[in-house]
Amino acid sequence: MEGPPLAARIRTEVAEEAHELGTLRLVTLQVGEDPASTIYLRRKHEAAQEAGIDSDDRKLPEDISEDELLVIVGELNVDDAVDGILVQLPLPAHLDEGRVIREIDPIKDVDGLHPFNAGQLYLGRPTMVPATPLGITALLAEHRVPLEGKEAVVVGRSDIVGKPTAHLLLQANATVTICHSKTSDLARYTLEADVLVVAVGSAEVVTPDMVKQGSAVVDVGINRTEGGIVGDLAPDAADVAAFITPVPGGVGPMTIAMLLRNTVKAARYRRGFLAFPRGQR
Ligand code: NAP
Repeated sequence: MEGPPLAARIRTEVAEEAHELGTLRLVTLQVGEDPASTIYLRRKHEAAQEAGIDSDDRKLPEDISEDELLVIVGELNVDDAVDGILVQLPLPAHLDEGRVIREIDPIKDVDGLHPFNAGQLYLGRPTMVPATPLGITALLAEHRVPLEGKEAVVVGRSDIVGKPTAHLLLQANATVTICHSKTSDLARYTLEADVLVVAVGSAEVVTPDMVKQGSAVVDVGINRTEGGIVGDLAPDAADVAAFITPVPGGVGPMTIAMLLRNTVKAARYRRGFLAFPRGQR
């Protein structure tokens, strides 16, 4: 399940929709100089500009105080020219990520991390949903991987990947199991999975003997090794699965495409073309 062809199609659609909507603006905030974050943000901004979305990559000093950061987020919330706000994570340790995320106006929360948006997903009425889980389910749909009535296993329970992916799969009527670092005997679960999503961040955490024959496997992991970027799956897991996402070239490009799609969605909400459930702030 290659990411780039579908991601390219979505980006073309996004460009058309952005053009129809007029001027769209995405602002990202990066605190400090985490090199991986800098690369991810550069890719997001290149893609935004290519889709005709104005984007502003704001770099903030590593030692910014929480109050200063909250003021900046507050200004972006009330700036009518701004459609989407993304605070690049992780933040330095002295900043409370939860507090900063809660400050973002949910209608501009293109990362889908605000508790209002996370709650809407939990309730089965999704508003803004994190981009990576949207990319994962779009890839599965593109390849017509059946979900209804199937066993889906998600390894990883982060707020940005594991949990929202599990909720999307549940909404697609899969029977979902979430595994994590305290799961005893991980293979017992993964071997049952018709659809396996691995979002851990540890190379070869899933080996071929842990994969069900003929299953669909999504490798979300990004691990930097001496041999380059690898995912969470051992390479020969592809021999067992019927569908598998490569790393790189699988979920990563989908994440960027879905972030742009979320920016268009935020613009639609803000312009009243879509109804955003109110009363959340
Ligand atoms: P995270 O917040 O660090 O979460 C990792 C999860 O894996 C945690 O829930 C953790 O369990 C679980 N885990 C750790 N070791 C495990 C083990 N041995 N067995 C089973 N579960 C284990 O990471 P994340 O933000 O979800 O990201 C996961 C990976 O995906 C990273 O490599 C990240 O770089 C990559 N990623 C890729 C994209 C993309 O677009 N391709 C986007 C986002 C993230 P506990 O909760 O018990 O600690």
